Amino acid sequence: MQIISDIQQMQSLTGDFKRAGKRIAFVPTMGFLHQGHASLLREGRTRGDVLVLSIFINPIQFGQNEDLDRYPRDMERDCRIAAECGVDIVFTPDAAGMYPPGFQTGVTVRDISLPLCGASRPGHFDGVATVVTKLFNIVQPDLALFGRKDYQQLAVIRRMVQDLSMPVEIVGMPIVREADGLAMSSRNAYLSAEQRTSALCLHRSILKVRALFSSGERSTAALKQAALEIIGQEPSVLIEYVEFRDGATLAEQETADHATLLALAVRTGQTRLIDNTVLGEEL
Ligand code: AMP
Repeated sequence: MQIISDIQQMQSLTGDFKRAGKRIAFVPTMGFLHQGHASLLREGRTRGDVLVLSIFINPIQFGQNEDLDRYPRDMERDCRIAAECGVDIVFTPDAAGMYPPGFQTGVTVRDISLPLCGASRPGHFDGVATVVTKLFNIVQPDLALFGRKDYQQLAVIRRMVQDLSMPVEIVGMPIVREADGLAMSSRNAYLSAEQRTSALCLHRSILKVRALFSSGERSTAALKQAALEIIGQEPSVLIEYVEFRDGATLAEQETADHATLLALAVRTGQTRLIDNTVLGEEL
């Protein structure tokens, strides 16, 4: 496994792979890897001849008062997990290389970036779309794998790739959860034991809504009420949003169907957590 920080070195290696006819699978991350990331890497390993993992805490996707400075890092552990998953190249550019003085170009995916996390984190998806474009230009993957944990991010990237005719196959992967149902996230490291317990209300509300949907409830107002009641039982959890949207367009829905996305975002203490489910898909 090679670790490369230099953008030009990565790009020239990519060129070599391309000329040799190798299929490049790519998993972009911000590091502090967990089993959610590992599931993407393992799938990438089976689909590509070369597996590239990027670790880059992208400053331009963080808002002013967000956790950029304290985002968890552990390069040594990340490299261990990467090696176990069969990664060939760990690409770790630095912010100065990615955004040199004078940098002034950005990618905006308009409507689909606006609701949900886009509403509470203005500019976030511009930062995501811009860095993913840049990483795609450097790594030139044939396919790139993303988790459905960040459902809107995946939708934004799919839209961008289609709109800009980027020659990359986008693969969406299921949410990996802890045994008790908490969706794995690097940010779970911020949680105290009590916060972690109260964060389980996300999964509980997902299970409740899915059960109501299975028994025939189709009113998103009624489904939302059920979710709000469960989260409302945890005084330390503040709701940012609980929304029902079309899984493809993210348009609001009054009547749920099998493609309806339930997306949730909450805060406990300083930590922001998201989760989601598509009502007609397996958990
Ligand atoms: P991050 O390092 O948080 O930017 O995540 C990198 C990639 O891993 C993104 O495509 C995420 O959606 C994906 N990911 C993060 N957590 C999970 C999870 N629990 N299950 C599946 N994929 C995940």
